[in-house]
Amino acid sequence: MESDGSVGVIIAAAGRGVRFGAPVPKQLLALAGKSLLTRSVEAFLGVEAVREIVVVVPADLATEAERQLPPAGRVSLRVVAGGARRQDSVAAGFRALSPEVDLVLVHDAARAFVTREVIERTIDATSRHGAAVAALAASDTVKRARPGEVALVAETLPRETIYLAQTPQGFTRQVLAAAVDLGERGAAATDEARLAELAGYDVCLVEGDPRNIKVTTERDRDLALALSAMAEAHAQEDSVMSAFRIGFGYDSHQLVAGRPLVLGGVHIPFDRGLSGHSDADAIAHAVTDAVLGAAALGDIGLLFPDTDPRWKDADSLALLADAATRTREAGFRVGNIDVTVIAERPKLAPWRQPICDNLARALQCGPERVSVKGKTNEGMDATGRGEAVAVHAVALLIRA
Ligand code: MG
Repeated sequence: MESDGSVGVIIAAAGRGVRFGAPVPKQLLALAGKSLLTRSVEAFLGVEAVREIVVVVPADLATEAERQLPPAGRVSLRVVAGGARRQDSVAAGFRALSPEVDLVLVHDAARAFVTREVIERTIDATSRHGAAVAALAASDTVKRARPGEVALVAETLPRETIYLAQTPQGFTRQVLAAAVDLGERGAAATDEARLAELAGYDVCLVEGDPRNIKVTTERDRDLALALSAMAEAHAQEDSVMSAFRIGFGYDSHQLVAGRPLVLGGVHIPFDRGLSGHSDADAIAHAVTDAVLGAAALGDIGLLFPDTDPRWKDADSLALLADAATRTREAGFRVGNIDVTVIAERPKLAPWRQPICDNLARALQCGPERVSVKGKTNEGMDATGRGEAVAVHAVALLIRA
């Protein structure tokens, strides 16, 4: 029953609900800057497989609901008017989905804190089993009450068998069509999974999430506010994390006789040079790795392997320029670059500015964004004995 087809979502927001003392139903009321409806829609927009979303609201609230829809990008997103009962609203949503949709998720707008993981688990189980419901295994002991004025325990149910159904609930087109049909012929149910069960289908339970609460009454308000604040903080963190990227690069080469010394593209007069396949420009190499690392585009060895004759005695600044072009194509520009060169000799100070200028030119950024510093290792290890040069570089990239 594997399905790699198109996923459609029906977000049911047609209830008048408990109003939190406000003139609009709770699903359209802003909590920490966003309504439950907006958050629910955003949760599904964040899932790769979702192609269409239909939001079902009472007819008189369609304009307000449309105003609250976030930008949907590649996803088709629209509002339709619901019916008298929940199942009528879901039926209206189902009719509004395009025929290409072969897997449908039904979700309550009031469950605004649903996670991407729960949605993806539900899609996955639906494509394997035909129908699936996000649900929480009961962690409390479950009592069944017997009817009467005073609540008395009739029995204690085996907790291992108890699950509390959440949404999303997922169905193949065929299963949801059968459930909707049953509802239209008079069967009543509080969720679509029940209708699918009544239509004779097996419904699979997948792990829900305790944060996936249904905001129902005034007493859910504080928890909803806390979850909204948490969601805002995560969104802010995500946008900062995707705006800035840090990369680190390192390189070292031996100093040997009979080679020119090239650092940052500058030919520095010295009695020895760095050994290596290319021009062995350790500054260019470390900066290249820092830039590639920040953009997660691999490293210098992967892009310009020293087994490839094309790179023999290659101008490493050209490799850096190539790497910088790749990061620009990936959507980044250079924030700044900081380089530390560890070399006992020669002294770097006289060459610092031309090195910075060369790096800036290769990176297509202003030279004020590039810093190069010299350091000695005071006689310790190979660099300290003047047998090698080592370079550390960090790069900050900014999403363009
Ligand atoms: Mg190297």
